[in-house]
Amino acid sequence: MADKIELIGLDKDEISALMAEIGEKPFRAKQLYQWLYVQGATSFEQMTNLSKDLRAKLADKFTITRPKIVAEQLSKDKTHKWLLEFADGQRIETVYIPEADRGSVCISTQVGCAVGCTFCHTGSQKITRNLTAGEIVSQFMVVRDVYQEWPSTTGDNRMVSNIVVMGMGEPLHNVDNVVKALQLLTDGDGIAISKRKVTLSTSGIVPHMPRIAKETGVKLAVSLHAPNNDKRSQIMPINKRYAIEEILQACQEYQKIVTSRFITFEYLMLDGINDSLDDARQLIDLMKKFKIGAKFNLIPFNPWPGCPYQPSSNNRVHAFSRELEKAGFAAPIRVARGQDILAACGQLKSKKLE
Ligand code: SAH
Ligand code: SF4
Repeated sequence: MADKIELIGLDKDEISALMAEIGEKPFRAKQLYQWLYVQGATSFEQMTNLSKDLRAKLADKFTITRPKIVAEQLSKDKTHKWLLEFADGQRIETVYIPEADRGSVCISTQVGCAVGCTFCHTGSQKITRNLTAGEIVSQFMVVRDVYQEWPSTTGDNRMVSNIVVMGMGEPLHNVDNVVKALQLLTDGDGIAISKRKVTLSTSGIVPHMPRIAKETGVKLAVSLHAPNNDKRSQIMPINKRYAIEEILQACQEYQKIVTSRFITFEYLMLDGINDSLDDARQLIDLMKKFKIGAKFNLIPFNPWPGCPYQPSSNNRVHAFSRELEKAGFAAPIRVARGQDILAACGQLKSKKLE
């Protein structure tokens, strides 16, 4: 018998084609799509507007799979982290970060990461494989299951309301699957998260940035972390491939396509490395030169076992922020969330802590 086909991760056209192959009408494909992505159904029995025979036929040919929750941790600040396992045994982490009236799901795109930033726990792990579109989308679906926020069509006051593609992996090293996943997550007939509520963060893989603008239209965040190429190359070796100037040009292009949205520049504050007032001034000059609608997000460094850096002092972070704000840039300091459960930026990994 042929292997069953997994439905999560398939788009409308693919589901229509599969239904046509088994002799079902187009409106049945639409119903199936809605059960999957609007209702969040996890079994065919739930699909009560389909006949028993059809449900049996679907169960015979297809599967609806969620990754397995291997471990879960809840932080003092209510940040929630899951270690998820896919069919081949590979594992990643997904994080939910609640705020007063909303909340973001931080999703992973790869097992490990090939970029190798020296400050990042994920980067110290090397790359194992890309996640499929289904594996990317299903992380969000698991969180919706947990917080019981199906169907997609109900209410505005949702707690699982935003998505940040800031978990493990470099999304633009897995661009085909990431584009497809973002299209599924933002499809108005399905999961229907607004593009304005989705932010993708990249270390600056220049050749793929235009596709994200053209094919998804989500908000962009760039991990800049340094005001010049010398410093950036030291902490992010990928900078030798795609230098700051090329990244900023790609950002200009991004803003031409996805208009009226600021690009967020993430800036990790590393003690004695990139946190001086002179660094801040160089950063301001750079932004003025490229005339990008920019805001900054100053990220306190989250240490992990064996890491080579120290976080900048509070005084230095605040002075840096004030310098940028004096020049007219928003530069809030990110509040680290879920630090007690290693759920904060750059702390994710694929192994369960024993
Ligand atoms: N690969 C993408 C997205 C995942 S990393 C990227 O690099 O943008 C998400 C963010 O966490 C990035 O801005 C990254 O630089 C930051 N980060 C990595 N390690 C960190 C650490 N130890 N402390 C705080 N932030 C970190
Ligand atoms: Fe990869 Fe992003 Fe970590 Fe760099 S910061 S190693 S790009 S996950």
